[in-house]
Amino acid sequence: MNFLEQVRDAGVIGCGGAGFPTHVKWNTTAEYLIVNAVECEPLLCTDRYLIRTFADRIIRACLAAAEQIHAQKIVIAIKKAYESECKALKNAIEAHRANIEIHMMESFYPAGDEQVVVREVTGRTVPFGGIPLDVGAVVSNAATLLAASDAMDGAPLIEKYITVTGAVRSPCIIKAPIGTPVAECIRMAGGALTEDALMIAGGPMMGQVISDKPEREQAVTKTTSGLLVFSRESYMGTYRCPMDLQALRKKAAAACIQCSYCTMLCPRHLLGHPLEPHRIMRMLARKEEITALLQENPTMQNAAYCSNCGVCTVYACPMGLQPSRVNAFLKEEMSRMGLRGAKGPETEPLDEREWRKVPTGRLTARLGALHYEGQCANVVREVIPAQVTISLRQGAGKAAEPIVKKGDAVTAGSLIAEIPNGALGSRVHASISGTVTEVSGAITIVGG
Ligand code: SF4
Ligand code: SF4
Repeated sequence: MNFLEQVRDAGVIGCGGAGFPTHVKWNTTAEYLIVNAVECEPLLCTDRYLIRTFADRIIRACLAAAEQIHAQKIVIAIKKAYESECKALKNAIEAHRANIEIHMMESFYPAGDEQVVVREVTGRTVPFGGIPLDVGAVVSNAATLLAASDAMDGAPLIEKYITVTGAVRSPCIIKAPIGTPVAECIRMAGGALTEDALMIAGGPMMGQVISDKPEREQAVTKTTSGLLVFSRESYMGTYRCPMDLQALRKKAAAACIQCSYCTMLCPRHLLGHPLEPHRIMRMLARKEEITALLQENPTMQNAAYCSNCGVCTVYACPMGLQPSRVNAFLKEEMSRMGLRGAKGPETEPLDEREWRKVPTGRLTARLGALHYEGQCANVVREVIPAQVTISLRQGAGKAAEPIVKKGDAVTAGSLIAEIPNGALGSRVHASISGTVTEVSGAITIVGG
């Protein structure tokens, strides 16, 4: 079996974002393989732990992936401030006698945005509406490489390391089988310090609020890297509370002073992309329906190029408005209308980009979360759940098709759902041994 087949069979997907199937991403050729080890979201420390602990395995998979895509250059992008992690990587590179460069980056947000990483490492700008491959780069994150290393040994992706922090008694990194209920992870971190907590899966800037989802959907997935808990009264609790587009629109019409700070600090705008959130916010004051505004207006359609990094909302806007959330709604609406952001040419970043980068420390302070920073760097606990609920849609593409039924006995690591024939997707494996008790959009396994 070749490397790509091993990665496919193990159900490896991009662990850092949308969960694109890795066997599809690496089925290409590219000049650069870039390992994204930047971990730029405040409070998260999972990737740093993985790099400190498993650098050797990450480098091993890095070399296999580079060979697969015929990369001429392998570069690991990491923050200069992560000294122990840089040292671990250097030692592993030396041990493998590998020709891998480490690219040190400053601590700014969103340094780990794929398009920002590509710019910093290659000096090339990914065209708006494009992907890194358009400029000869494939970007994969450190956790994905670790999963690929396990795949080389025949081990499927069935567990995750996750930062659990925020308003919990004992912040830590946990190792949890895929499908572990979020409540168990929080319990393992000593429990929430606040009742009716707001829970976020991922980082505070780009993570998904999960506390309002049905309990069955609150489970660890292959893309979960963090679980954050906040009080509803905190800044995070208020800025991430549910709000519909009409409410956001009313607020924008009433309070946007058109200062354009949101645009001036937008990392995608600074890359030369045509995204201008202040113009989108201005459009919201008009009377037309959103669909009509989107249909007629290229300025509005440029919301498609937003990465939802949240800088405009959390850091830039002096009026407490939320351009990033507006853009997220517009993107959903565009997808319903069948509108897509067209791919543009390669752009030149703006001169001011260098001095408009947002320092991570100041961003964390703005989130009201400085006291949570670095809480759990070296505390690792393992969760052994009594049952898991494993979603059949772990990442991008079609949901996997179950190959087990209620009552079947499964062992940890056995295949329970297959990629639909000819479709984009990823395989799913049992993460604990036990009995299948439910098969619907997810497969529930009770241990034993
Ligand atoms: S979330 Fe805001 S700052 Fe980030 S890319 Fe979108 S518009 Fe720009
Ligand atoms: S920063 Fe806020 S007030 Fe200023 S233009 Fe943007 S949305 Fe409007």
